[in-house]
Amino acid sequence: MTHEVINQAPPLAGHDVAEDKALLSAVDRHGAGWVIPELHALGVTAGSAGVIELARLANEHSPVLRTHDRHGHRIDEVEFHPAWHQLMTTAVNHGLHAAPWADGRRGAHVARAAKFYVWTQAEAGHGCPVSMTYSVVPALRHAPDLAARFEPLLTAAVYDPGLRVPEGKRGLLAGMAMTEKQGGSDVRANTTRAEPAGDGSYLLTGHKWFCSAPMCDLFLVLAQAPGGLSCFLLPRVLPDGSRNRMHIQRLKDKLGNRSNASCEVEYDEAVALPVGDPGRGVATIIEMVSSTRLDCILGSAAGMRQAAAEAMHHASHRMAFGVPLADQPAMAAVLADLALESEAATTLAMRLAAAADLAARGDSAEAALLRLMLPAAKHWICKRTPAVIAEALECLGGNGFVEESVMPRLYRDAPLNSIWEGSGNVTALDLLRAIARSPASVDALSAELARAAGADRRLDLAAGRLRGELAAIAADPGDAQYQARRLAGLITVTMQAALLVRHAPTAVSGAFCASRLADGDWLGGPGVSFGMLPRGLDLASVTCRTRPAVAR
Ligand SMILES: Cc1cc2nc3c(=O)[nH]c(=O)nc-3n(C[C@H](O)[C@H](O)[C@H](O)COP(=O)(O)OP(=O)(O)OC[C@H]3O[C@@H](n4cnc5c(N)ncnc54)[C@H](O)[C@@H]3O)c2cc1C
Repeated sequence: MTHEVINQAPPLAGHDVAEDKALLSAVDRHGAGWVIPELHALGVTAGSAGVIELARLANEHSPVLRTHDRHGHRIDEVEFHPAWHQLMTTAVNHGLHAAPWADGRRGAHVARAAKFYVWTQAEAGHGCPVSMTYSVVPALRHAPDLAARFEPLLTAAVYDPGLRVPEGKRGLLAGMAMTEKQGGSDVRANTTRAEPAGDGSYLLTGHKWFCSAPMCDLFLVLAQAPGGLSCFLLPRVLPDGSRNRMHIQRLKDKLGNRSNASCEVEYDEAVALPVGDPGRGVATIIEMVSSTRLDCILGSAAGMRQAAAEAMHHASHRMAFGVPLADQPAMAAVLADLALESEAATTLAMRLAAAADLAARGDSAEAALLRLMLPAAKHWICKRTPAVIAEALECLGGNGFVEESVMPRLYRDAPLNSIWEGSGNVTALDLLRAIARSPASVDALSAELARAAGADRRLDLAAGRLRGELAAIAADPGDAQYQARRLAGLITVTMQAALLVRHAPTAVSGAFCASRLADGDWLGGPGVSFGMLPRGLDLASVTCRTRPAVAR
C-alpha cells in the first residue's frame, strides 16, 4: 500500500433525515404531532445507504421513451429504472401523494408536507408525479362526478404502475399539461383545440411542449373549447382498454430532474372530459397550481436543508490548517448563515402547509393568507435555493464538485422549482394580483405579522417598511411590476423573521433579524452572499440545529 486515506469525511449516511428541530417543532405546533414516529421512520429510510443508492441509480439511468412496440404499434410508454419504482412505492405507501384529501385528521396536510420534505431529501425527481397527484384533487372537485370516480384511487396508498384502465387499477397518479411551444406562462395563448364529441366528452387536438411524468394515469389539460380556454381530464387509457391518442414525441434532455421524464406530446383527437365551467380553464387548473406551488416551496426548503446538512457534516469531519473546518471562523459564519436560510425556509414552508390544512377545512383567513404568501414565498425561497446549494457545495471543496457526492445533483435540480408552476417574474406578478384583488390576503398577512409585534425592534421596523412599500404600490400601481420581485422578497423575509421570533430559539431569530433585516439593507447586504454575518452572534446555537446526527 503506497498511501492511506486520511482526513476525508465519511459519507453522510445512516442518519435520520427527520431529526430536524425546525421541522419537528413546526409539525407539533401545527397539529400533526401524531405523525412524528412515522416521520422518523421515513427519515431513517431516507438517510439509509440503500436509498441513497436508489437515488443515484434513478438519476444515472434516466427514463427511456418507447414510442412503438416491435410490431410497429404505438405504445407511447416511458421505461424507468427499477430504482424509480422503489422510490415511488415508498412515497405513495407513505401517502405523500393525494392521501391527505381522504384523511380527516387535523393536521393531515401538515403531516404530508413534513413527509414530502423529508422524502425529497432522498430524491427530488420522483416528487414531480407525487406532487401533481396531491394537487389534482382540489381542481378535480370542480367536476364532482369525476372526483367521485377517481378520488378514491388517487388517494389510495398503493403504487400501481403501468398503463391500464384507471378504474381497474389499485392506485392512480395524475399529471398536468398546460405549457405549449408558443408560451407557457401565457396559457391563454394555448392553441390545443377541444371539440365536443356529442356524448359529453371532447376530442383534443394539439400539442404540449412540456408534460412531465407521462406515465401518469390521468392529466389535467388546458384546451380551447367553443366556450373559451377550458380544463379537461385526459386519461391515458380509455374504458375499452385502448390507448388514448396522446402521443409522446420525445423526452426532454434536462439540466437536472433526470430521474423524472418530461416530454413533448401531441394529441390527435384524444378523448377528454370537462372539469369546471367552460371558459374557466385557468380558474380551474389554478387550484392544482396552488398546491404544486406549496410543494415547490417544500421541495426547495428540503434541498436547502439537505445541502446545508451535507456541508455541516463535511466541515465537522475535515481538518484544515490543523483545525476542523467547522471551527474555522470564516467557515463557521458560512455554515451558520446556511443554517439560518434553511431554518427560515422550513419554518415558513410548514406554516404555509398549516394554512393549506386549515383552508381545506374551510378557514377563509388561512385561504386568504395562502393566496398572497404562496406566490411570494414560492418566488423568494425557490430563488434562494440555487445560491444556498452552490455555497453548501463549496463547503465540500473539490469533493462537492464531483458526482460521487450528492451535491452536483442537488445543484442541477436547484433552479427547477423556480421555473415551473409560475417562473420568478410570473409569481411576483401573481403576488401583485393577490394584493390588488384580495384585500383579505393583505389583512391576513398583517394579522400574522402583528402576532410577532413588539418582540424584536428590527422586525417591527421591517414590518413598518413593508407597510410603506404596500402603500407605495397602491398609490402608484404603474410602478408595481417593476417592484414586484422586491416586494415578494420583502414579504417573505419579514414573514420568516416573524415566525422565527415567535417559534425559534432567540439565537436563531436574533441572527436572522440581524443579518436579514437590520439597517433596511438586507437586499444588498448580508444574507445575499453567505458568511457575511454581523459580529456578536451565537453561531454554535444556530448551526447545531441543522447539523445531522449520524448514528454509528
Ligand atoms: C423540467 C420541467 C418540467 C416541466 N413540466 C411541466 C408539466 O408537467 N406541465 C406543464 O404544463 N409544464 C411543465 N413545464 C413547463 C413550465 O411550467 C414552463 O416552462 C414555465 O411555466 C415557463 O413557461 P415558458 O417555458 O413558456 O417560458 P415563458 O412563459 O416564455 O417565460 C420566459 C421567462 O419570461 C418571464 N415572463 C413571462 N411572462 C412575463 C411577464 N409578463 N413579465 C415579465 N416576465 C415574464 C418568465 O418568468 C420566464 O422567466 C416544465 C418545465 C420544466 C423545465
